[in-house]
Amino acid sequence: MSLPLKELINIGAKQLKDAGVADAEIDAKELYCFMQGIDRTALMLRWQDVLQDNQCEAYFALIEKRASRAPLQHITGIQEFMGMSFEVNEKVLIPRQDTETMVEDALELMEKGTLRGQGYADSLKKGGDVLDLCCGSGAIGISIAKLAKGARVTCSDISREAIAVAEKNARLNGCKSVKFTESDMFAAFGGRLGKKKFNLIISNPPYIPPSVIACLEPEVRDHEPVMALDGGEDGLAFYRIIAKEAPEYLKKDGVLMLEIGFDQKEAVKGLLRDTGCFEKIVGLTDLTGKDRIVCAVLSKNPQKTP
Ligand code: GLN
Repeated sequence: MSLPLKELINIGAKQLKDAGVADAEIDAKELYCFMQGIDRTALMLRWQDVLQDNQCEAYFALIEKRASRAPLQHITGIQEFMGMSFEVNEKVLIPRQDTETMVEDALELMEKGTLRGQGYADSLKKGGDVLDLCCGSGAIGISIAKLAKGARVTCSDISREAIAVAEKNARLNGCKSVKFTESDMFAAFGGRLGKKKFNLIISNPPYIPPSVIACLEPEVRDHEPVMALDGGEDGLAFYRIIAKEAPEYLKKDGVLMLEIGFDQKEAVKGLLRDTGCFEKIVGLTDLTGKDRIVCAVLSKNPQKTP
């Protein structure tokens, strides 16, 4: 069997579409690019090529994997995030575009002290200590270390395997300064020598209720680590811990920035408000206009509730 490239990709796309893959055509092209080690521009230049038997077979083996609903990124091993390449595997959440929005907000805050153009907090302007809590692949922390001047970044996660992936990603992206700590939430930061404090705590914690996880696409439900998704019965378990404990780990005027599910803004704002430890509690949307981020500043006069 020899096939023109165009036809090969059309057949691949059709197989993916029939298997229920959302972006069948894009993925069919991406898998070809991955197989040949080329980018999309090179693909267009080769559009007239005719592929021989062994190449067609190799391509259809990749298509078959994707048709079984393994995520594209588990086949290629890579996800782009903030213009950088991150290695991913089944031990870490695949970085999402929604999360880039939060990183862009953090970068603006660290550069200008503003959030979407509005004055917000000056304490981060000259860089500072940043904690990426529940770091997974390290996408958030490593992008901040790479793109924000003066940021001293620590990435932490409860999963040793996730930390291993994040450490590798820091190396691959030339971020030597990022520190890594295996920690169940803040546990490792309250050591004997006093609590480690940060100017910015940023987190994309697990926030999906198990009942919702069961209804997600097979790529997520069957292939991504449930521990990175499962936010407990109501999805808010980790925000409760963060609301309660983050104030102890924030420096004066420190900022807390959280990714949230599209329907969690009011609940998360309420959790932060109820501690009496935060001010300027605001919600921000993602590129599709959905609520995606909640941000707050450590209050100057924390009103500890009984
Ligand atoms: N945004 C991710 C998703 O929709 C979930 C991320 C999370 O639970 N932190 O699959």
